[in-house]
Amino acid sequence: MSEVLIVGGSIGGLTLGLMLHRAGIPSRIYESAPDIKPLGVGINILPHASQDLCGLGLEEPLSRAGILTREAVFYNRFGQLIYSEPLGRFAGNASPQFSIHRGDLQLVLLEAYRERAGADRVLAGWRCTGFDQDSSGATAYFRDTTTDAELPPQRGTVLIGCDGLHSVIRKQLHPDEGPPLYSGVNMWRGVAPWPSFLSGASMVRAGWHEGGKMVIYPIRNDVDGRGRQLVNWVAEIATPKYKARDWNRAGKLEDFIDAFADWHFDWLDVPALIRSTENILEFPMIDQEPLPWWSRGRVTLLGDAAHPMYPRGSNGAGQAILDARVLTESLTGYRDPVDALSAYEAVRLDATANVVRMNRRNPPDAILREVFVRTGDKPFRNVEDVITHEELRAITEGYKQATAGSAR
Ligand SMILES: Cc1cc2nc3c(=O)[nH]c(=O)nc-3n(C[C@H](O)[C@H](O)[C@H](O)COP(=O)(O)OP(=O)(O)OC[C@H]3O[C@@H](n4cnc5c(N)ncnc54)[C@H](O)[C@@H]3O)c2cc1C
Repeated sequence: MSEVLIVGGSIGGLTLGLMLHRAGIPSRIYESAPDIKPLGVGINILPHASQDLCGLGLEEPLSRAGILTREAVFYNRFGQLIYSEPLGRFAGNASPQFSIHRGDLQLVLLEAYRERAGADRVLAGWRCTGFDQDSSGATAYFRDTTTDAELPPQRGTVLIGCDGLHSVIRKQLHPDEGPPLYSGVNMWRGVAPWPSFLSGASMVRAGWHEGGKMVIYPIRNDVDGRGRQLVNWVAEIATPKYKARDWNRAGKLEDFIDAFADWHFDWLDVPALIRSTENILEFPMIDQEPLPWWSRGRVTLLGDAAHPMYPRGSNGAGQAILDARVLTESLTGYRDPVDALSAYEAVRLDATANVVRMNRRNPPDAILREVFVRTGDKPFRNVEDVITHEELRAITEGYKQATAGSAR
């Protein structure tokens, strides 16, 4: 197999490059950002996906860069505990759950790919503008991101669009698709150094979208030599208006802080954490209706380009990693690359559509919705009067089954 062209050098594209390299298939990665900088905030990799990163020999650098998540804890907005469960290795899984800065994850993957495949195989500042293909290969077209000058067309056996939510490859394959779909929930996010809270590796979800929900978890240990962690927080609030998603759009404190003004819990002072954050980002919770197909001949999609989803189940990066594994297996197993792309799509299209729909309907935080609705947003005396342990467990277990079972 000659070279695989990978458009997009983020979680999906870099993982694919690493897996192809291990399988002896050469690739080249074209990334539009002129410098690959650690952008974004926190991200989680659940065991069903971390096993693949560990299999690539990345457990050690990821453990150093991030946190091995210990437990999920759910509270109402009054700080009353609803449910907790162990996560990752602490739940008996063979692989850990990582909570990590998205940029740290991207840099671990980038460093490994450059070291193993060769630094010249990642081309930064190459913005793909489109492709065409014939019976022997695919050609991708590029412009220099900084100068807009045309760059030489690149040819490979197949072309994989790993170019995220605003994918040009997806746009060319599906020109009539409408804009992303807004969930009705807007998000403000940030990170701040903070003393360790709860277990020091707890993923907290609290409140609900009507009135305000928070997701809070640490993503780096000891950031100041005094044991403070880098803590990631996300405020999610039902909001009718939204601005188009730009991962780097600055958010304003006054637009959302009121919802959390009295969240002074004995384990964490939430408004103080938010106020200590230097850069607040704002982006809407959006997804796209699952596509009827991803592949045409020698071109296909992977990761967010194929199936953008609400970030409500820690599965965005994870599903991109599972795509990369299945695509690598298909490219290794089929002689004809067109058959390989079809086989990949046959395994992953419905599986990921299912995750997109689960994230709309019943991700783990549906626990919070149930308690919010059943209590009428009032404190409870005893959580068992509101919802049983079995019901709570069924929500998180149902999600795990639907998302982790999708690739095997
Ligand atoms: C800057 C940024 C910040 C993010 N921050 C968060 C976050 O804080 N939390 C979270 O849950 N998710 C975040 N995400 C999304 C998250 O990374 C994805 O949901 C998930 O990891 C799947 O990754 P992916 O590789 O499929 O897509 P993405 O991570 O979106 O990567 C797509 C890559 O393709 C590149 N690209 C786009 N267009 C072109 C083009 N025309 N030519 C060449 N390259 C192109 C992009 O620069 C990017 O590197 C962020 C994505 C980006 C790009």
